[in-house]
Amino acid sequence: TKWVYTFGDGAAEGRAGDRNLLGGKGANLAEMCSLGLPVPPGFTITTEACNFYYANGNGHPEELAGQVKAALAEVGRIAGRRFGDPEKLLLVSVRSGGRASMPGMMDTVLNLGLNDVTVEALARDSGDARFAYDSYRRFIQMYSDVVLGLDHELFEEILEEEKARLGYELDTEFSAGQWQEVIALYKDRVEEELGKPFPQDPDEQLWGAIGAVFSSWMNARAITYRRLHDIPESWGTAVNVQAMVFGNMGETSATGVAFTRNPSTGEKALYGEFLVNAQGEDVVAGIRTPQNITEKARIAAGSDRPSLQKLMPEAFASFVDICERLERHYRDMQDLEFTIERGKLWMLQTRSGKRTAKAALKMAADMANEGLISRDEAVLRIDPASLDQLLHPTIDPKAERNVIGTGLPASPGAATGEIVFSSHEAEEARKAGRKVILVRVETSPEDIHGMHAAEGILTTRGGMTSHAAVVARGMGKPCVSGAGSLRVDYRAGTLVAMGHTLKGGDVVTIDGGTGQVLKGAVAMLQPELSGDFAAIMEWADKARRMKVRTNAETPADARMARSFGAEGIGLCRTEHMFFDGDRIVAMREMILAEDEKGRRAALAKLLPMQRSDFVELFEIMAGLPVTIRLLDPPLHEFLPKTEKEFEEVAAVLNVPADKLRHRTEALHEFNPMLGHRGCRLAVSYPEIAEMQTRAIFEAAVEAGRKTGSPVVPEIMVPLVGLKKELDYVKARIDAVAKSVIEEAGVSVDYLTGTMIELPRAAIRAHVIAETAEFFSFGTNDLTQTTFGISRDDAAPFLETYRQKGIIDQDPFVSIDVDGVGELVAMAAEKGRSTRPGIKLGICGEHGGDPASIRFCEKVGLDYVSCSPFRVPIARLAAAQAAV
Ligand code: PEP
Ligand code: MG
Repeated sequence: TKWVYTFGDGAAEGRAGDRNLLGGKGANLAEMCSLGLPVPPGFTITTEACNFYYANGNGHPEELAGQVKAALAEVGRIAGRRFGDPEKLLLVSVRSGGRASMPGMMDTVLNLGLNDVTVEALARDSGDARFAYDSYRRFIQMYSDVVLGLDHELFEEILEEEKARLGYELDTEFSAGQWQEVIALYKDRVEEELGKPFPQDPDEQLWGAIGAVFSSWMNARAITYRRLHDIPESWGTAVNVQAMVFGNMGETSATGVAFTRNPSTGEKALYGEFLVNAQGEDVVAGIRTPQNITEKARIAAGSDRPSLQKLMPEAFASFVDICERLERHYRDMQDLEFTIERGKLWMLQTRSGKRTAKAALKMAADMANEGLISRDEAVLRIDPASLDQLLHPTIDPKAERNVIGTGLPASPGAATGEIVFSSHEAEEARKAGRKVILVRVETSPEDIHGMHAAEGILTTRGGMTSHAAVVARGMGKPCVSGAGSLRVDYRAGTLVAMGHTLKGGDVVTIDGGTGQVLKGAVAMLQPELSGDFAAIMEWADKARRMKVRTNAETPADARMARSFGAEGIGLCRTEHMFFDGDRIVAMREMILAEDEKGRRAALAKLLPMQRSDFVELFEIMAGLPVTIRLLDPPLHEFLPKTEKEFEEVAAVLNVPADKLRHRTEALHEFNPMLGHRGCRLAVSYPEIAEMQTRAIFEAAVEAGRKTGSPVVPEIMVPLVGLKKELDYVKARIDAVAKSVIEEAGVSVDYLTGTMIELPRAAIRAHVIAETAEFFSFGTNDLTQTTFGISRDDAAPFLETYRQKGIIDQDPFVSIDVDGVGELVAMAAEKGRSTRPGIKLGICGEHGGDPASIRFCEKVGLDYVSCSPFRVPIARLAAAQAAV
């Protein structure tokens, strides 16, 4: 087996398409080499070797040692050097690189191959002893941390002590000799901690680092990241070993990262940051604040520190050239890493850049208009779930802004919340239902869970490419980074800003679009869905086959959904209409009534309220289909719960509180989800269904008159398992419809259908379809009943299942294609067998989940229905499923 792929000197054994085998980084390094770009020579150990490592108790395949040796020799040949040879010193970097990028999640070792002897060679070759010893001490620190498992802090301590002793502020003040003393102290510390000296043998160092990269695939940070991003553990990581180039060889050296277009706004302009005389990780770590690459960006940022364009015009020119080539080659925005060693440019990485949803839309629309990609491709370029970011509110421009500090606009959208200073607090607050802003000096991969829990993130240090910025953009959370005028004091638990001292729990608002930090809560505006958004949506609408409806029962939701492009209502849960004000009183009166007569009297009070709700919905939907579901939940959900409520209700209904309590007890169910609910209620109390039907038809007549376009209601019966249940309810519906139509003297077309949300209904779908004129898959209940897992109690143990690898996805979030999906597919086919062309839709939560929507397209459903905020996501996902 071939475990190692080399690249360098204009040729490579791998290519961009080998991403699964070589990881993203390795595959793209190979591709860049083949394009003739300046890439330091190196080789990639495959992800299969990583899988071998885990399958064989952290062991390597037999051939690997020989293949690595040969590849190292080849790298040395190209570089004109030899690994471990002080005469012609070759140093390497060792980096992880999986199929999907996992920024900062796994480990890297630089300057590998340095030891007490080779450091002298580096001093001699570079002509800079200070640089050489600095590199060696960095290497000891990094290697000890990543490979030997010694805490970074152990070395920071020594460094701080030395600085204090020498009276220095900055690392750069150390002389070569002083670094040598630090190195001696570092090595002593390693020996103290481990009982053996720091490894001097370059081969031992190399294998240690390779093992550490493989091991980092299973570290806690990486596991969390994979879980959050649905990256399978089985992918493994590759290891990239590459000849070192140095961005820290003095003032003509630099290192940086760049995007070929602005990752925040999508603007077509090279965008990036660099540091002079610095090494790789310094930029991303956010410890020194970097400089702009282009003059344009420097001016826009109002920075007085020179741009790369000004400082190193030649290297800049070749960089610009390479950026353009790579973007054309990959036909997408690239995220690049580079190093300039004494004026010579080297490319260290290229990949498709992460971007905000806003930027993704702009880039896709621009690239389609530039002819770089087709419109269908543009539609495919957008991650449907990311649209969520655009639907977030922004600060009302008319609102007063009490600005207490400004940082970088690292991730757009605005958020308000209480200040918390740790990820732990953020999580706790979230659990308690409070909204928080996570405030940190800087974030690290350990903070991912806290960032998730927070509404937004604020850091006082770091640039646009700092950890906080990159991760927040990926999550679609507002973020302001590098707000340097703010002071965080973790110990005192304060945030000091322009004379204000804020404490944990105080409310702030961050504006990720401008970088402003505001005191208190601020008025927000709903987003504009025009421009690029509208363009891409229009292309998506042309491409899709399925319709997209919404689940809505309030006029506000229905209106919002329409503005997001909903093409009707797929589920109106009428029970939600019975909770407000007077309605709950009438509802309780109905439930508590002794007999049918009493129930009818209470229902008569509900009728006009219900009717006016429907009139409004029909008007908003202006002729689009509206599916109204008859009452579904068990009746006790409407009854009072606390003692105080009992007293209140008893007074309003003028019945003794005891009677109320008694009736409530009688309605108690052990397993309400499988109890007296759905069509079972309509069978027991047909007068409820009759009242609702009357409200629907009277409203249809009224709205039809008002709007001039006829309303065609779709009446949906929930939780049907037997055809006879549906027959029974449908007979009532038909009878009421007939009388309303006669009374009104106008005809109303309507459909009567059922939800398919019980396995029996799916199995008997061909029989049920003899009565049902449409099916709507209620995949929430269908998942619950197919798995036999209560949807209200599932979350905690399903999370355990996920962590233990028993399931990949929560089946209540993304449809279980193999089980529940099979039932859906079967029911669709059976339904069509007895009623060709039967209208089919889905209205469970899955109707807004892109993976489930793909499945719905495959089964050939006519529409999906989802909550209003998911409508744009569903439109896009339905298009992607169709092209
Ligand atoms: C369903 O069960 O999928 C459904 C849409 O109904 P509800 O969530 O109201 O039970
Ligand atoms: Mg249901």
